[in-house]
Amino acid sequence: MAGLIAVLVLTGAGYVFLQVRSLEVEQVTPDLYVLYGLGGNVAILDTDEGTVIVDTMTLQYQGERIKEIAMELTGKPITLIVNTHYHLDHTHGNPAFDPGTRVVATERTLHHLKVTDAAYFEGQGQTLLPNETFVTMKEIPMGNKTLRLLHPGRGHTDGDLVVLFVEDQVIHTGDLFFYLHYPNIDLEGGGSVVEWGETIETILEQPFHTIIPGHGVVTDRPKLIQFQAFVNELADLGRQAADQGLSLEETLRTAELTKDEGYQPIKMIVDIGLTREFVIQRAWEEANQAFEARP
Ligand SMILES: [Zn+2]
Repeated sequence: MAGLIAVLVLTGAGYVFLQVRSLEVEQVTPDLYVLYGLGGNVAILDTDEGTVIVDTMTLQYQGERIKEIAMELTGKPITLIVNTHYHLDHTHGNPAFDPGTRVVATERTLHHLKVTDAAYFEGQGQTLLPNETFVTMKEIPMGNKTLRLLHPGRGHTDGDLVVLFVEDQVIHTGDLFFYLHYPNIDLEGGGSVVEWGETIETILEQPFHTIIPGHGVVTDRPKLIQFQAFVNELADLGRQAADQGLSLEETLRTAELTKDEGYQPIKMIVDIGLTREFVIQRAWEEANQAFEARP
């Protein structure tokens, strides 16, 4: 019995290790790549002024792998990291990069990182916290390429940015778009189902053909419009439940979502609870102000 358990534990550890280690590379344009792995999608852009990395996944070890893969793909050092928002599956690879690397995020993202995640970014790691912030928009020239960073409004949190790769006409939406997955809705971190649809409207004003979502595979504009319809339906559902004075249990029992066809809960080795029930609960909580946003 003990032997069997040992085998199971070892197999489990091996599985986890493989999940963490395996990063799948997809080329999006001649100079732009996406990495899929355990955590949010990572973009790698090859520019005249070095390599740009958008998001760094969940573990320092993955940060090391991202660095290696980026070097293989571009042959150039990493001169800029962008964090789309503060969640650990988009930022915890940061400490793997060289101290002093330029790290850009919104002011709200830096704030949330300092409030919720100070222990992780201790010591050396502190230099890999965002060291350049903005509120609404920032354009960054990188030689032959331009990055437009935009905070289009609240949705997933109150500090998300999207990255438009101007010349490539591709956008990395961070977690403002989960493609074919139920999204996390971080009300405590300033997120809002109610405002999310408008926020997506602002994203859609940007000139792009292709989308790297925060989670899910590379896709295109019509799929983001579909996701917008989903969040709008979810916001309506919350509003109606509040208007009718329905309890959370009643809402969960009677709610009809129609725009989530094909949506799957995300798995990060284990199920992390991003289900249909979860998003309905969040919509209800926002509509009934039954949550506490962090300052
Ligand atoms: Zn997130």
